[in-house]
Amino acid sequence: MPDSSHLLDRIDRWAIECPTRPAHTSEGRVLTWGELVAQSDALALWMDEKLAEKQGPVAVHGHKQPEMLVAFLAAVKAGRPYVPMDVSIPEQRIAKIVEGSGAALVLTPGEVSEVLSQLPPAEGRKPRRRVEGSDPFYVLFTSGSTGEPKGVVITLSNLTAFVDWLCTEHLFKRAGEVFLNQAPFSFDLSVMDLYGSLTTGGTLASVTKEELSNLKLLYQRLGDSGVTTWVSTPSFAQMCLIEKGFHSGMLPNLSRFLFCGETLAPETASQLLERFGAAGAEVWNTYGPTEATVATTSVRVDHALLTQYSPLPVGYEMPGTRVIVVDESGAEVQEGERGEIVIVGPNVSPGYLKKPELTATVFGVREGQPSYRTGDWGRAKAGLIFFEGRMDGQVKVNGYRIELGDLEANLRVLPEIADVVVLPVQKQGRVESLAAFVVLSGPKEGSDFEVSAKLKGALGERLPAYMLPRKFFFLDAFPMTPNGKADRRKLAERLG
Ligand code: AMP
Repeated sequence: MPDSSHLLDRIDRWAIECPTRPAHTSEGRVLTWGELVAQSDALALWMDEKLAEKQGPVAVHGHKQPEMLVAFLAAVKAGRPYVPMDVSIPEQRIAKIVEGSGAALVLTPGEVSEVLSQLPPAEGRKPRRRVEGSDPFYVLFTSGSTGEPKGVVITLSNLTAFVDWLCTEHLFKRAGEVFLNQAPFSFDLSVMDLYGSLTTGGTLASVTKEELSNLKLLYQRLGDSGVTTWVSTPSFAQMCLIEKGFHSGMLPNLSRFLFCGETLAPETASQLLERFGAAGAEVWNTYGPTEATVATTSVRVDHALLTQYSPLPVGYEMPGTRVIVVDESGAEVQEGERGEIVIVGPNVSPGYLKKPELTATVFGVREGQPSYRTGDWGRAKAGLIFFEGRMDGQVKVNGYRIELGDLEANLRVLPEIADVVVLPVQKQGRVESLAAFVVLSGPKEGSDFEVSAKLKGALGERLPAYMLPRKFFFLDAFPMTPNGKADRRKLAERLG
């Protein structure tokens, strides 16, 4: 039976039950449960007073520091959603997110610890109101096809529906799990480990970008972490599998791998079972967009499933939701037929922040419940959902969601560029990198390498590094389709 109490009460109780247990570890720093709850209570009171006259969320700009968790919880305890912004996002885009979200306050980890150092303990005093029911809990900004990031609003009820399911499906040990936190907090995959851990009295073990960029440090961190529940993109696990020592000897306490965000290749799942299965670790594939709170389908990938299916299914629908496949008119197709995946249920977001028109194009109501058209091709067979790619220009590179239109819009504003088409470079069925085909607005000044480096530099001021095209191709003009559009298919042929 899921716990019916307020999510924040489910979190706060661990400060009483296990005050000295680590709630978060990151770069050698440890934040205990007692500290997390006391600090977020004190900071919430401060926010309530400081922002009394101001509307809007609290934006939190940092990386994997413990103060991030303190600030997230403080915001919702003070009745406001938070907007997590990772340091990998360049300043120009941060400015758009802050402006687009109407943030009442932007906090960095340094500011949080500075403020905390001057605050008295809350000692039972509470802010005027906390986040309840359909109030926004967090807003996550994702790539938007027009070049502007769009904010997905997730309410307390959305998050509670997801967490209830997660905790019913996996029998997490109470005050006994260590969750791996690989994704930055600005990506919704991190919500699975963050709230899985916070509501069960777990320890969130964050891996920082420095550790991710140095494999020796990374394996050391993983080995020391005591991780019991692994949450990551399949790409990250694939990268770890390159290391022969990545097996149950490195993570002896591991009970499960939870994957989401991109295709889980059968080879990855079977290698993980080979290396960790005998020690009791399960492998799970889960699927869903940010707009429906992390994931809405899941399936355990065992040897039987691997023998039966390739590609793997993305899972069975979460109880209380419906994951259906529809045709162009919105009618459900016959079992086994291809169509668009639509999610209907309590985990579906109310929409994009301050973008009613965009919201109306993909969100709606079906059978009395909120619904979201995912833009994913799929099929339903024997109760399982199969993902079959995107209907539009959205791609996943190493698990990161990128709209090709976002990149094109941000490249087109550079004065050197007259026109541009960005295409995915595929390898073994997955997008390995992005390539930009560019028509320059003037003569090319320098070698391809020099001009590419200059454009990458300029684009890097507007977009995070993971979004940048790896390769640039310079053309005098694009090949055209009969109706006068750049012929993307012909351009794609050049990528081999
Ligand atoms: P995001 O909002 O970043 O979580 O991205 C959501 C999109 O990622 C979905 O609409 C799918 O296109 C893709 N996706 C999520 N989970 C999976 C999965 N398990 N397998 C394949 N694609 C996935």
